[in-house]
Amino acid sequence: MMYDLLKDFDPQKIIKANSLPEETECLQIIKKKNINFNDIAKLLNSESSTVLEAMALESRNKTLKRFGRTVSLYTPIYLSSECVNSCIYCSFNHNNQLERKTLSFDELEKECIEIKKFGFDSILLVSGESKKHAPVDYLNECIKIAKKHFSYTALEIYPVDFEDYQLFKQSGVDGVTLYQETYNETLYPKYHLRGPKTDFKYRIGTMERAGKAQIKKLNIGALLGLNDWKEETLYLIFHLQFLKKHFWESELAVSFPRIRKHAGSFNPPFPVTDQQLVKMMLVMRLFDETLGLLISTRENAAFRNSLLKLGITSMSAGSKTSPGGHIGAESQTQFEISDDRTPLQIQEYLAAQGYEPVYKDWEQGI
Ligand code: SF4
Repeated sequence: MMYDLLKDFDPQKIIKANSLPEETECLQIIKKKNINFNDIAKLLNSESSTVLEAMALESRNKTLKRFGRTVSLYTPIYLSSECVNSCIYCSFNHNNQLERKTLSFDELEKECIEIKKFGFDSILLVSGESKKHAPVDYLNECIKIAKKHFSYTALEIYPVDFEDYQLFKQSGVDGVTLYQETYNETLYPKYHLRGPKTDFKYRIGTMERAGKAQIKKLNIGALLGLNDWKEETLYLIFHLQFLKKHFWESELAVSFPRIRKHAGSFNPPFPVTDQQLVKMMLVMRLFDETLGLLISTRENAAFRNSLLKLGITSMSAGSKTSPGGHIGAESQTQFEISDDRTPLQIQEYLAAQGYEPVYKDWEQGI
């Protein structure tokens, strides 16, 4: 359904139609209760620093009003680096001759115990796509193990069928994260050469299947660097609007993964600057003050610190991007970590800024 609607959506047309926004009009847009796609395009196109500052202030106020001075902290567990896909930007790419690893249930249990020592109560289970090494049954068992240790468990794995999301839900999964990578269907095949991930349509329907299975939190994103950042921003908001309308019981969140250096040699053709990433985040907040906004350790400490007061609600911490990384197992990482502060150091920084780190998303009893 989302796929059919997407075909009639033309973000470039909207961006071009709003290419010369007036500063005064932009300042009025920022104060509007509901902003539309033309408003968003005007804010994205504006080059006024006054507008940017006003956006930052409004985003900060809306975030404080809704979330208070809290930031939830989570960490990923990489379950498997086996992957049959060929995404040209990823070091787990099927073509790379790297050592692969899939965690045993025993190793997963140990990782959970290790992570729990830092106080985390939210976990993100991550896996490459290999139905042979990490089939649905394996992932389902991993969810059950994680749920013994953490009240909030989310998945960042390959897209699965509706029935599989139902199964995961029964086993206790709370959230599903899946990035479309790029919403531009013409560019998509240039980055995804082989494997099931080449199916753009199946991927774009993922959140519909997860939402229908009543997964509580749906987290979307575009991989920044694959396409024009303004176009992806409009696509993301289009997707959010669709999810809000059809799955209003689920919480929605957006992540801003920016392509980082990795073991391969991929240079993003549409590099996104810090200021552009900030603008993306600010318009998301102006569009919807209830949205979760996430930033990972792909970004460096100074930049993450600066985002804190602009609208970010969730951060990863103490991340290891290889299976077994938390218990010292040696294997290839998916991308390099830029913020290598320990969870304690991040916690101390947050406290110094007057923020409270939250290690769980909600009380188990709710
Ligand atoms: S991005 Fe994901 S699906 Fe693509 S090669 Fe890497 S692990 Fe596999």
